[in-house]
Amino acid sequence: MDVQRLIAAKRDGRRLGADDWRDFARAVTRGDLPDYQTAALLMAVYLRGMDFSEALALTEAVADSGERLTWPGIGRPLVDKHSTGGVGDNLSLVAVPLLTACGAAVPKLSGRALGHTGGTLDKLEAIPGFRADLGLDELRRILSDVGCFIAGHSGKIAPADARLYHLRDVTATVDSIPLVTASIVGKKLAAGADTFIIDVKTGRGALFPSQPRALRLARWIKRAAEKAGRRCVCLLTEMGSPLGKKIGNALEVEEALAVLGGEAVPEVRELSLELVARGLKAAGLAADVAEAREKARRKLDDGSACEVFGRMARAQGGDLAAFARRERGGAHTGELKAPRSGWLRRVDARCVGRAVRLAGAGRSTIEDRVDPEAGVELFAKPGDRVTAGDPLLVVHASTEGGLRAALVELSGGVVVGDEPPGIRPLVRRVLD
Ligand code: URA
Repeated sequence: MDVQRLIAAKRDGRRLGADDWRDFARAVTRGDLPDYQTAALLMAVYLRGMDFSEALALTEAVADSGERLTWPGIGRPLVDKHSTGGVGDNLSLVAVPLLTACGAAVPKLSGRALGHTGGTLDKLEAIPGFRADLGLDELRRILSDVGCFIAGHSGKIAPADARLYHLRDVTATVDSIPLVTASIVGKKLAAGADTFIIDVKTGRGALFPSQPRALRLARWIKRAAEKAGRRCVCLLTEMGSPLGKKIGNALEVEEALAVLGGEAVPEVRELSLELVARGLKAAGLAADVAEAREKARRKLDDGSACEVFGRMARAQGGDLAAFARRERGGAHTGELKAPRSGWLRRVDARCVGRAVRLAGAGRSTIEDRVDPEAGVELFAKPGDRVTAGDPLLVVHASTEGGLRAALVELSGGVVVGDEPPGIRPLVRRVLD
């Protein structure tokens, strides 16, 4: 493959054919391309875009870069849930076991932290022993025994996305509609579900803060999935401030376990129920959304989803007892206090996401290791009344420098004022 021709074509805004994208994905998978050429092509795509047919070709090429899993004899509708990435977005940890408890099988491939947004695999790996890198036989056994898994794209499944995803994270090429479409839908096709439920975030903390761009992404994802013969429901959901109160890898697992255990974390619970209800309805596991919601609520409240999470974690090597016993918190902690009394008007999700990354929970280079304990715990959410000097949040950081940088970032994103903020609905739009 003449990769310089591909780079030059995209640099000059020309389209490439399906064969070019297939060759590119193969070369990335085999490790035939040096990172500087792959990164140059990604940047050219980022700047000049792709038309939909190119994005579809790259999507299929990503899916075909490894094995496409099939699940004969699984006996349940196969549903997959994915998010375009948010801050404090631990919904997969609740929604996957809940879908399973409601009768779906969920073969889920997830990613790691991307840009300022968190990654489900990094979160799950905060559980001692948890393995995301599973062989095909293990995936088959776990899906059949437990009904769900959350794994990484290994050397075998969508390996081209694994490489591209890492490179995008460290080359400022994350928020590209065609690249996100190919990454998400390519992985979902490889994992083999029939119904996709995609949470497309919008607002300051999303990869695409503007609602029109997020809507465009949702339309591309839905169209690509449907062209490949899958059912796909996209929800456009609010990501102006972090979803829950805990942001960071171990912290988000803690919060998800609390929701699974029946504690009220309103936004996490509500949005999980909504996503699951839409997935159940689309997969034919409920006649309508109201019935699906009621079914999901029962399975959350009676502990069934929590039990499934425990079984899935154990099957993937995770030790939840050791997680509960672990020493919490980062090596360095510091609080941000309310500068005045009033209403907490804004906790900017993008600033929180960046702060969490600075604190040690994300990567600056591919080789970086994430600190599972790094993160931010909020003591107040937008709409709460606060008094001058009250601690608004605590940062847990790996290093003193990371702590200072995170606190500076956060001080620009937290606003206290005289009026309460307007209330924004969590779900802005549903494409079903
Ligand atoms: N999630 C993914 O899997 N890929 C992206 O590109 C963005 C979010």
